[in-house]
Amino acid sequence: MRTAEVVIIGGGIVGSSIAYHLTAAGCKDVLVLERETAQGKGSTGKSMGGVRAQFSTPVNIQMSLYSIPFYASFDERLGFPAGYRPQGYLFCATSDRHMGYLRRNFETQVALGLKEVRLISADEIRSMFPQLRSDDIVGGSFCATDGFVDPYSAMTGFMSWAADHGAQLWKNTAVTAIRPNRPGFVVETTRGDVSTDTVVNAAGAWAANIANMVGITLPVEPLRRMLVPTEPFDQFPHSAPMIIDMSNGFHFRPEALGFLLAWNDPEETPGYKSEFEPSFIEKILTHAADRVPVFENLAVNPKRAWAGLYEMTPDHHPILGAVPEVPGFYLANGFSGHGVMHAPATGKILSDLILSGNTDLIDVSLLDLARFAEGRTIHETAVL
Ligand SMILES: Cc1cc2nc3c(=O)[nH]c(=O)nc-3n(C[C@H](O)[C@H](O)[C@H](O)COP(=O)(O)OP(=O)(O)OC[C@H]3O[C@@H](n4cnc5c(N)ncnc54)[C@H](O)[C@@H]3O)c2cc1C
Repeated sequence: MRTAEVVIIGGGIVGSSIAYHLTAAGCKDVLVLERETAQGKGSTGKSMGGVRAQFSTPVNIQMSLYSIPFYASFDERLGFPAGYRPQGYLFCATSDRHMGYLRRNFETQVALGLKEVRLISADEIRSMFPQLRSDDIVGGSFCATDGFVDPYSAMTGFMSWAADHGAQLWKNTAVTAIRPNRPGFVVETTRGDVSTDTVVNAAGAWAANIANMVGITLPVEPLRRMLVPTEPFDQFPHSAPMIIDMSNGFHFRPEALGFLLAWNDPEETPGYKSEFEPSFIEKILTHAADRVPVFENLAVNPKRAWAGLYEMTPDHHPILGAVPEVPGFYLANGFSGHGVMHAPATGKILSDLILSGNTDLIDVSLLDLARFAEGRTIHETAVL
């Protein structure tokens, strides 16, 4: 039977970052199991690639304070590109309540050491982007080091580096069961059994199924998100940041010669729905033209639009770390729309926990599974 020091279930960006961080820390026998024939067929390949430190809770901000500088130096460190583009995130507030919220977040972000974030006036937003309808904009916040990465490149970069340094990726290998082996586990797969002391659940939107295999109920639910890329469009600057209309959550960023449009439809319900719903296009174009009048001229090819799954938790924070009831079983799940931007921090945290039992990157007890049963949830409201 194949043995491995650590088995990681799921070869998306989270599993790949954990493989990289473990290997870089000296763990030479890491095996990543991916059921698809290629990496990126889960949520990672569907992502918008946004990275930001503009969150409301300290733990999310801290995860970004590790992850964004990591992405900035990714190419240099790993020798593979991550496509980091620091074009910023611009939150546009349309009510005093939203502005107060941005101000409180700004204070928390600065207190934790974020230097590049600033509050900006409505006039400054108007002068930056006169194309925005700004009659109701009261101000905003902007962080220049926020921006975008190429999630597929970052994922393959992490995995390629790890594979070059001793880790292995088994594609086309589905995990079908996990048996206790006292100590450790036997992981049953479509390619045979693997014996290991340490299993990491990095199965994205399918994480609850993997957790079930060891008797754990994981509150992670799939929720469809849809993205609409436009045809080439030059009436809005391509140097623009991610721009968020806080009145309804519509946001967009430049992508290739056009723009990528996103909006979190409040009518969406949980489930493994991966097909794109054509009626979404009219809804999102209405929001787009409402905030950016020149977007009335946008052309969209519905065949290029796509859908993917967020992995939602009840408090919109990931579930990270060991599970005391199942020694050797670790969770890296439930990123609630932030798994690409928080993948570097997650890799470091899981690697620290597996190799030394603790981490100084965050207080990981804040993100443990027990918080749901014990009423210690910490709500992130800055979810896009
Ligand atoms: C439309 C959309 C836009 C998004 N935008 C952003 C954004 O701007 N910024 C951001 O940070 N995040 C964003 N996200 C979220 C982000 O994509 C996810 O949080 C992230 O990709 C999760 O990575 P992962 O590796 O955990 O999951 P995945 O990429 O889904 O990888 C999990 C892997 O596990 C494999 N797997 C599952 N079950 C098994 C099994 N039994 N055996 C073997 N393998 C298995 C799957 O095949 C899959 O490849 C977006 C998501 C979507 C859908």
